[in-house]
Amino acid sequence: IVDMTNLDKYFGDLHVLQDINLSVSPGEVVVVIGASGSGKSTLIRCVNGLEEFESGSLVVDGHELAPKGANQQNLQNIRKEVGMVFQQFNLFPHLSVKDNVMLAPMKVRGASRSEAADSAMKLLDRVGIANQADKSPKQLSGGQQQRVAIARALAMEPRLMLFDEPTSALDPEMIGEVLDVMRELAKEGMTMMVVTHEMGFAREVADRVIYIHGGRIVEEGKPADVFDHPQNERTQSFLSRVL
Ligand code: ATP
Ligand code: MG
Repeated sequence: IVDMTNLDKYFGDLHVLQDINLSVSPGEVVVVIGASGSGKSTLIRCVNGLEEFESGSLVVDGHELAPKGANQQNLQNIRKEVGMVFQQFNLFPHLSVKDNVMLAPMKVRGASRSEAADSAMKLLDRVGIANQADKSPKQLSGGQQQRVAIARALAMEPRLMLFDEPTSALDPEMIGEVLDVMRELAKEGMTMMVVTHEMGFAREVADRVIYIHGGRIVEEGKPADVFDHPQNERTQSFLSRVL
């Protein structure tokens, strides 16, 4: 569903992504790990066109996104099929929890208010907070807000979900409830790319772990292989610091 080939990206002089080759199959869960500044966020932001790239090719669910400067006619198509959850939940503060989840289906897909409300309630139930539907986001805990953000992304029925450190802004006691929702999604067959420092989650849920260093994929494989028998010395040293 994702095909990146020889992708390069620069921020000015900084070669932030270097010759990235990465494919993700339907239903696969890929966890991206690496040190701060290694390019993890930039990599997944490229997948839904939040960042442009200078060269290489990127196809998401059959829609090709061209390098910078070209006509990005597929950007809207890609955004419709890709849900994204950030470290900061980015909920609309002036809307209720339920309205946050209803907004995109009504605006982008032309769903009716009652359709959107029905599916919002189903999604809020799925993430365990149907009883908070009429509250304002700021009345919720961080873990609850992040679960709303996940429900909001799912409301567009994405074919692919991107997560960028979804638990990094949370108090420790709330991390589990968000990871549980993600684990369920994975079990139901959602295709996911997840940037996280939660190595336990990665080991348990990932089909594949990718280690990025200095904008390059230096190691990838099944979690057991990458965590227990890292081949690259940079992966070894990173893991010895975080495990
Ligand atoms: P972290 O773990 O801290 O989130 P990361 O692996 O997600 O780090 P990125 O955010 O992808 O790293 O950043 C990779 C590099 O690109 C860093 O050196 C960063 O300073 C730089 N960078 C990121 N965004 C921009 C930007 N908009 N303009 C210029 N440089 C940027
Ligand atoms: Mg980041």
